[in-house]
Amino acid sequence: MKLYSTNLNAPEVSFQEALITGLAPDRGLYMPKSLPSFSKEEIDSFKDAPYSEVAYRVLSKVLEGEVDDESLKAITYEAYNYDVPLEQVDEQTYIMRLDRGPTASFKDFAARMMARLMQYYLNKENRSLTILTATSGDTGSAVADAFYGLDNIKVIVLFPTDEVSDRQRKQMTTLGKNITAISVDGKFDDCQAMVKQAFADEDLKHLNLSSANSINIGRLVPQSIYYIYAYAKLRDYPEEIIYSIPSGNFGNMMGCVLARTMGVPIKKIITSVNENDEVPTFLSTGKYSKIVPSKNCLSNAMNVGHPSNLARLIAIYGGVMDEQGNISKEPDMDKLRNDIYSTSVTDAETKETIKDIFETYNVLIEPHGAVGVKGLLEFRAQSGDNTLAVTLETADPAKFPEHVKAQTGVEPELPDSLNKVESKDEFMDYLGTEYPAFKNYLQEKLG
Ligand SMILES: *Cc1c(COP(=O)(O)O)cnc(C)c1O
Repeated sequence: MKLYSTNLNAPEVSFQEALITGLAPDRGLYMPKSLPSFSKEEIDSFKDAPYSEVAYRVLSKVLEGEVDDESLKAITYEAYNYDVPLEQVDEQTYIMRLDRGPTASFKDFAARMMARLMQYYLNKENRSLTILTATSGDTGSAVADAFYGLDNIKVIVLFPTDEVSDRQRKQMTTLGKNITAISVDGKFDDCQAMVKQAFADEDLKHLNLSSANSINIGRLVPQSIYYIYAYAKLRDYPEEIIYSIPSGNFGNMMGCVLARTMGVPIKKIITSVNENDEVPTFLSTGKYSKIVPSKNCLSNAMNVGHPSNLARLIAIYGGVMDEQGNISKEPDMDKLRNDIYSTSVTDAETKETIKDIFETYNVLIEPHGAVGVKGLLEFRAQSGDNTLAVTLETADPAKFPEHVKAQTGVEPELPDSLNKVESKDEFMDYLGTEYPAFKNYLQEKLG
């Protein structure tokens, strides 16, 4: 597997190198030059397999020759030791619950695989590194949990003080050991900007920094597997399938784009956002402008005003977008619009959807999942297209108990994994949004 940079100004690298370095030296994002494709028969053969086995079989083809077979099998079975329920809502609609991992968000799928792959390569070479990651809530906890206790990897997580819930924060601040949490007096985009600047900073090269955000290709590849899995499970009836994905930084959606490239007959990818509507606006007008500062919405893990993965989407459609959001080569907009439907969902609509889905179907969803459901309903109303659809629930409703209870009257039950952190002590450091202070901090902490 060879990977190129979306800025087209860096050498091609191996999967191992892309995984360990995260960002390309030209500040672009790594993308696979080609991917294998899965035939109907192969996808059929996944029908009765558990998730871990599907993951192993998909990855052994995607990462062919990169990781020895026995290790890959052990890694996938260890990473995916939890359920991936497909819950039927009505005849043509399923909810895929991606919230059964240890931190109860879909980020566990990517973080657990990436952590184990990184450890595999670092052990082989007897090296160590520090993961720097910015989070709007769920990445930080998933990454911290996935790397917790590994000896050769330290993790530093930056989160925006006012944009994460108490429960999300506790999942990052109660671990200790090799995990450090920093509360930043700013927005998610500020945290992300500081992390990106640190990666590009020559003075910090010796610190062996790496990323674990959705900019890392090691997170993207695992996020394509559940789209293959769900299609295989439901494949008795659909010729084609529609996926509806609540999106923020668009890593999850890119996983779906990769799954389509690998042969899943996906008729439409619906990607719904909250009131940070830069992507639907871009698709309708062809003009991109980031939203600064990003807006605070109920679906807080999607409060992203400038999604990094947009550069990858544009690359797949033949265009070039740099990390600032400048487009130097237009992608094929007609094809993009044909493949992808994107819409913005307000907080009021999000609440209404939580209520309606509970009252009509007795199905409990939280704000992120509700954005996905609403996007699907809107697409169906506009297009009249009733193709079988799977909409993704990306977090456990118990992570957002106030909103869920306000709309449904139900107090969602806390999974054991979340219950455990409630009473533990918290440890964190505090920083502002000035890069020099962050740089000093890193030099002192790691130097
Ligand atoms: C991160 C996250 C999202 C958005 O996923 P992206 O890959 O950033 O688009 C949606 N829902 C939840 C619960 C998340 O944690």
